[in-house]
Amino acid sequence: MFDDLMDGNARYVESFDLADTPGRAARGVAMVCCMDSRLDPLAIFDLKVGDAKVLRTPGGRLTPDARIGLIVGSHILGIDRIIMLAHTKCAMASGDDATLIEKVRQTDGTDLSGMRIGSSPDQMAGLRHDVETLRCDPLVAAEVSGMVYDVMTGRVEKIY
Ligand SMILES: [Zn+2]
Repeated sequence: MFDDLMDGNARYVESFDLADTPGRAARGVAMVCCMDSRLDPLAIFDLKVGDAKVLRTPGGRLTPDARIGLIVGSHILGIDRIIMLAHTKCAMASGDDATLIEKVRQTDGTDLSGMRIGSSPDQMAGLRHDVETLRCDPLVAAEVSGMVYDVMTGRVEKIY
């Protein structure tokens, strides 16, 4: 099931030239964005490898692990600005947890009852909450902005 990916890596290695890329984010950017396969986080902002830390979560929401990454990044990995990046047509904003749990059950019968997924139809409220949470976090040493990426046009709107 993974042969195509290993073949892909073999081709990648042939032209690999990133050995000298520093581990600090050259442009001082960290972003938390959705795992949606339509998002190319670096390309969206015309960034390249080495420029930014990218943390991906379902819906681009601020999870405990993402918060840890942002805290550590803001103190020792060169992060001085954070983007919380939501996007249009996000599955995590298509309904609440009960909606998604029912969709999984109908798709393959798996019962996720009781799982806290974090989905919400009020996507903007979630974005605002995450931005305000980070701005109030005394351990986060960076500016914070909330943005929305339009999967139909590629355009980003800065909301906060
Ligand atoms: Zn999404």
